[in-house]
Amino acid sequence: MSIGIDQSVIAFSGVGPQMALKLAKVHVHTVQDVLFHLPHRYEDRTSVTDLNALLPNLSTVVIGQIESSQVVFGRRRSLLIRISDDTGGRLTIRMFYFNRSQEKSFQRGLWVKCFGEVRVGAKDYEMVHPDYKVSVKEPKAGLDTTLTPVYPTTDGVSQALWRKITDQALSQALPQVSELVDPSCLPAELQGAYEAANLQQALQALHRPKAGVDLTSMQEASSNAHQRLIMEELLAHHFSLRKSRAVREHEQAPMLVKAAHLEQSFLANLGFTLTGAQQRVCAETSADLAKSSPAMRLVQGDVGSGKTVVAAIAMLQTVSSGMQAVLMAPTELLAEQHFKTMSDWFGALGIDVGWLASKTPTKQKRDTLAKLANGELLVVVGTHALIQDAVNYKQLGLVVIDEQHRFGVDQRLALRSKTPEGQVPHQVLMTATPIPRTLAMTFYADLDVSSIDELPPGRKTIETVVIPAATRRADVIQRVFSACQQGRQVYWVCPLIDESEALEAQAATETEQELSAVLQGVNVGLVHGRLKSKEKEAVMARFRAGDIDLLVATTVIEVGVDVPNASLMVIENAERMGLAQLHQLRGRVGRGSEQSFCILLYQMPLSQHAKLRLKTLRETNDGFIIAQKDLEIRGAGELLGTRQTGSITFKVADLIRDQHLLPLVEGCANQLQLKTPHTIEPLIDRWIGLKENYVNA
Ligand code: ADP
Ligand code: MG
Repeated sequence: MSIGIDQSVIAFSGVGPQMALKLAKVHVHTVQDVLFHLPHRYEDRTSVTDLNALLPNLSTVVIGQIESSQVVFGRRRSLLIRISDDTGGRLTIRMFYFNRSQEKSFQRGLWVKCFGEVRVGAKDYEMVHPDYKVSVKEPKAGLDTTLTPVYPTTDGVSQALWRKITDQALSQALPQVSELVDPSCLPAELQGAYEAANLQQALQALHRPKAGVDLTSMQEASSNAHQRLIMEELLAHHFSLRKSRAVREHEQAPMLVKAAHLEQSFLANLGFTLTGAQQRVCAETSADLAKSSPAMRLVQGDVGSGKTVVAAIAMLQTVSSGMQAVLMAPTELLAEQHFKTMSDWFGALGIDVGWLASKTPTKQKRDTLAKLANGELLVVVGTHALIQDAVNYKQLGLVVIDEQHRFGVDQRLALRSKTPEGQVPHQVLMTATPIPRTLAMTFYADLDVSSIDELPPGRKTIETVVIPAATRRADVIQRVFSACQQGRQVYWVCPLIDESEALEAQAATETEQELSAVLQGVNVGLVHGRLKSKEKEAVMARFRAGDIDLLVATTVIEVGVDVPNASLMVIENAERMGLAQLHQLRGRVGRGSEQSFCILLYQMPLSQHAKLRLKTLRETNDGFIIAQKDLEIRGAGELLGTRQTGSITFKVADLIRDQHLLPLVEGCANQLQLKTPHTIEPLIDRWIGLKENYVNA
């Protein structure tokens, strides 16, 4: 009896309830899921390579006779076995972990067959810890007839098991896989790939590539079979985002109308005029909020482009309609600063602003919660505390999430569900990390995107220098001294240490002591994650007021902190930080009219990537260019925020490697929507299935 494609994985021989639970961890629930759980790389055990024909970095099978075997004591004790074959080629097998009996088994004259990656060694090519077998007689080939697939996996699920169940799925369920993408809907570029193999053949080819197939095209996913499946996966994700947009468009949200007179008084109080870009984005947001379906708008704008005021204007429109507006920030420091700004701006209009963070004193918290629940308080600013269970809103109209890439999808969801029955609040997400256009079109298809692509007038570009700490730290301290004497304010940012807040706090404390001792007459302040919120607030308030000249800080000041008089920033161990993070940090200066400077101190040795990062920062201040570089150096990573790290995981596609396909996705999706709309749902189900719940947050 054959296995049905929609059956649970329990249907496979070798899979019981325990194993089914493990498979569920990698989102494999059904037989179809197994067919679409594709190898992420291949090993070629289909032919033996002569020892004189080895190529470095490729994994291969070799057969040779042992010439010598010895234990050497270098930097690490290792066992070296030299083998040769009749082509005259040689190879060294190197083992760091071995026992007596292994050591003894490598007798001169015996044969070894092994599989491993070839590396350039001291003398010959080497294989480190290969799979191997020693024999007295020359081994017969006994090779695989297909490339060996290696599957992405999870604890307790062996490659052998994957091979076993994919074998069963291929032989019994593959014929049930149906075509969902009509080739005539595809762009010309992909027609060839579709003609070369139908879906069943493509799956077969990816699970069990035939011996002799071009390994490079398999590894690089450029084979026809890959291209075809990658396109289908990209389409499935794009459709699932479209679907969540469609669902949202059917939901009810409060229609928020702006009160022109309130907005006018607000603008008159600001002390500056909005840039053209800010006005445009405000208009886009305002139109969203006036609709009866919930807005979901991503506002991207480089550090310092003035996103906060755009948020405030949207919140004002909410309040004008008698609804509540929430502003959530990822760190307490930033939330606190937003609270101050909003209190000033809204206070002038007679609108109260509430404050909620996890460390807010109980009594005050209770009071705020009560006012949010009975609707007395219309504006509230805070941290994650805003989404905790105890918080109830009377009539939530708008949620603004600042630096949204710092939040998980779950947290965004939580605020959505905090509304009275039947209505969903509007959402505005703000980010300083720009998303390249093609990526936005395809993978933010559920959001509307606005860009504040202009900085407020009068900003001077920050001048960035890169300096070795070992020889020049003293000069830098001298420079800090003269800056402070001229009435400038300075940030000194201490390094990231192993994600440990305690160690970072300690390093910052020591730096603060060191700098206070040498900088006579300079007021030095200290802020780090271990301080109580009251203490943090007090330090920031003194820095803002100019009582502190030099603020020694950990990366807690990374996001959002806004003190325009600060015009010099020193970052220690800049080589340890990522591009986006350095750009964010640097964005703390250059906010006033003074020429600002950023000094990146580094310690040797510098990795290739670190060099590139520092060079990029020295050369440009433009967040778009930096995001693009980040993409090139590192991959999509943080660029996609939680989408990449938390929820979207692809089976075959890779947004960086497959960038060239992204511009084709939208057009192709339109065609399919037109010609075969009934295939969309099964396509989403096939590629995304149960994960969809998380993705469509
Ligand atoms: P970000 O986009 O990084 O969140 P902020 O909203 O913190 O930027 O704004 C940075 C600084 O620029 C703040 O001090 C803000 O008051 C000021 N600002 C914002 N818009 C303008 C403008 N149109 N003209 C002058 N200053 C502005
Ligand atoms: Mg900001």
